[in-house]
Amino acid sequence: MASIITQPSPLPAWRRELAEGFKRPEELLAFLGLPASGWDAAAQRDFPLRVPRAFARRMRRGDPDDPLLRQVLPLAAENAVAPGFVSDPVGDGRARAAPGLLHKYHGRALLVTTGACAIHCRYCFRRHFPYSRAQLTPARLRPALDYLRRHEEISEIILSGGDPLMLADARLSGLIRALEDIPQLRRLRLHTRLPVVLPSRITEALTERLAASRLQCVIVVHVNHANEIDADVAAAVTRLRQAGITVLNQGTLLAGVNDTLGALVALQEQCFATGILPYYLHLLDRTRGTDHFEVEALRARELYEALRRRLPGYLTPRLARESPGAPYKIWF
Ligand SMILES: *Cc1c(COP(=O)(O)O)cnc(C)c1O
Ligand code: SF4
Repeated sequence: MASIITQPSPLPAWRRELAEGFKRPEELLAFLGLPASGWDAAAQRDFPLRVPRAFARRMRRGDPDDPLLRQVLPLAAENAVAPGFVSDPVGDGRARAAPGLLHKYHGRALLVTTGACAIHCRYCFRRHFPYSRAQLTPARLRPALDYLRRHEEISEIILSGGDPLMLADARLSGLIRALEDIPQLRRLRLHTRLPVVLPSRITEALTERLAASRLQCVIVVHVNHANEIDADVAAAVTRLRQAGITVLNQGTLLAGVNDTLGALVALQEQCFATGILPYYLHLLDRTRGTDHFEVEALRARELYEALRRRLPGYLTPRLARESPGAPYKIWF
């Protein structure tokens, strides 16, 4: 018994799962029964593969075009240089109000809490983000908190990253406590892929902490394809909703992943069946190395128009694009 007492506390299950995720493309391909040659070394060096097993298990075996696999596998197409595809396509540099804090839209500010993600999405603009400079250590948090105090019109704080749920519970809880002390803040929003790619992260301790906050909590997940949702994801979303948390989805329109009417309808239906309300459908940010994911503007409009004809308003996400300097993201 004594030896148990002196043991350091074990890693939470989700941390172990994170450590056991796929990091080598050839291992993921072998797991899926695919040839080991279907990936690109230069793309892997640029932005290494990272996929939790919980997510990889939802991929179809033997299908190189699987919509979940396409989101994570490094391909030679990423090395192409395409005009207009740049490192900071959304102008985040200009919106910087304090280290780690972006203030771009009225009433909301976004805090980059960590550069880490559980999954590396090939189309993400953060693939070129200067992560280490954006890391928010407790000492570097001070100016951001001061800025929020001075700007009384900010009533909602958005935790983003990377992925804010990559923070350990103690760090996250301390951060939320500091935000709760800012009187005019009313809402706490988390932009996270973890309830979907690593549902074991949604522990009882986490949901209790969020439910206990005086801030109203909104979680915006990121699902691009109906196949990303399985019974474990549904259970994680149920835990969040039982804690009184609103769960929304923002996906990205991606060629070869969800650029058909059938895939987009199934995504919204599956989200709603799981307790997630559609929020945004983003057009791709034109990030270097991602042009093979782009759905051309005309086709995006056509798809969106067809989606509107098909679904009730509450199941239709807003079509959005970030443009530097614009006061909101809605595009259509
Ligand atoms: C996307 C984003 C927001 C949130 O915009 P909503 O339209 O409220 O979802 C806030 N700040 C920044 C910097 C953003 O990029
Ligand atoms: S920030 Fe989100 S979209 Fe980008 S790599 Fe991380 S989890 Fe994926």
